Amino acid sequence: MHFDLNEEQLQVEEMVRSLARKSFVPKAAAIDEESRYPEENMRQLAELGLLGMLFPSAYGGSETGAVAYGIALREVASGCASTAVGMAVTNMVGETIFRFGNEEQRRKFLPGLASGSLGAGAFALTEPGAGSDAGGMKTSAAEDGDHYVLSGTKSFITNGTYAGVTIVMAVTQKEPRKIGAFLVEQGTPGFTVGKAERKMGLKGSNTVSLAFDECRIPKRNLLGGIGDGLRAAFSALDGGRIGIASQAIGIGQAALDAAVAYAKERKQFGQPIAEFQAIQWMLADAATELEAAQLLVYRAACLKDQGKPFTREAPMAKVFATEAGNRACHKAVQILGGYGYVREYPVERYLRDVRVTTIYEGTSEVQRIVISRNLLR
Ligand SMILES: Cc1cc2nc3c(=O)[nH]c(=O)nc-3n(C[C@H](O)[C@H](O)[C@H](O)COP(=O)(O)OP(=O)(O)OC[C@H]3O[C@@H](n4cnc5c(N)ncnc54)[C@H](O)[C@@H]3O)c2cc1C
Repeated sequence: MHFDLNEEQLQVEEMVRSLARKSFVPKAAAIDEESRYPEENMRQLAELGLLGMLFPSAYGGSETGAVAYGIALREVASGCASTAVGMAVTNMVGETIFRFGNEEQRRKFLPGLASGSLGAGAFALTEPGAGSDAGGMKTSAAEDGDHYVLSGTKSFITNGTYAGVTIVMAVTQKEPRKIGAFLVEQGTPGFTVGKAERKMGLKGSNTVSLAFDECRIPKRNLLGGIGDGLRAAFSALDGGRIGIASQAIGIGQAALDAAVAYAKERKQFGQPIAEFQAIQWMLADAATELEAAQLLVYRAACLKDQGKPFTREAPMAKVFATEAGNRACHKAVQILGGYGYVREYPVERYLRDVRVTTIYEGTSEVQRIVISRNLLR
């Protein structure tokens, strides 16, 4: 066992950290304030090969693997969490098309996702009546000649407005129930994108509903077989958990760094507040939990890179890292006192941004269900 990153992973860490500090940090507050999609950040990520990290160069990707991907996402999130979620979903969509798509689909969509020329990727599983119980979805796909006709609504879809391709899960057969995954291209007649949600945090990320009204999708855009939709979705979410865990660590680390700097500067009772043990213990707890979270993420990502099962380790990493990230941001606000609660300092934004990480791509409760199923089966 060794704890060292390899040369390539170290290079990714250095490159993305520098990009995030120079380009993303200075704009993150304005992006939040204006609820503006960070298109220019996404372009920079594409230029550096960071939107196709999970598929090979033959399709325009950089195939750096899950460990490097987690590192990159953490660094982006520490600079701008809204950019990180756009990056996470685009990478997840690329990986899913690579894993489940045929040669024609890979060639058609992957180079444009990696280069950004196609726009972002989106992944549409959730519906107004089907969140944690994704299998209970109502969106249907009826066969009609050489097309499928999609009808229904998806909700909370990240990147929806800016996506060149959206993977949409829909019921292809009622009895026995089958769910398929479809590659829906922007501009397809019958496909409309709703208004952006007004959110608590991640205000720069784009979250919309999608409506399908007799939307005709050519059969060549079916991803895998007619019953492969949930398998593709759950496989995507398995890897996605490593990404969201990393996002939470990045936000938590940014909050911890801000709290350390502030604690050394701020004086009360004639001394820096860093000299109070109460403050020191909050910093120590946050640092320890984020470190433990990182180790869980590395473990899950290493297993994934080795082609070994990681369905137990990924939800453990996600539940622990996202809750640790939340606790770190809470503590940072506490350490900054009243200044933690106002927009002059970034920690209130970190707290708003990190909040959703225990909710999307499977809530903490769902992660615990997956972990306990593994224990009890
Ligand atoms: C900003 C944002 C971006 C998102 N992006 C996407 C996206 O790109 N694509 C996409 O498909 N979805 C996306 N989602 C949706 C997200 O994945 C869902 O919100 C999430 O899966 C939870 O579903 P729900 O909101 O319907 O909550 P519900 O499933 O209704 O859950 C409500 C509460 O009940 C709990 N609960 C539910 N079932 C159980 C159970 N069996 N046991 C114990 N507790 C349970 C939950 O943990 C939660 O606390 C996004 C959501 C947000 C907020």
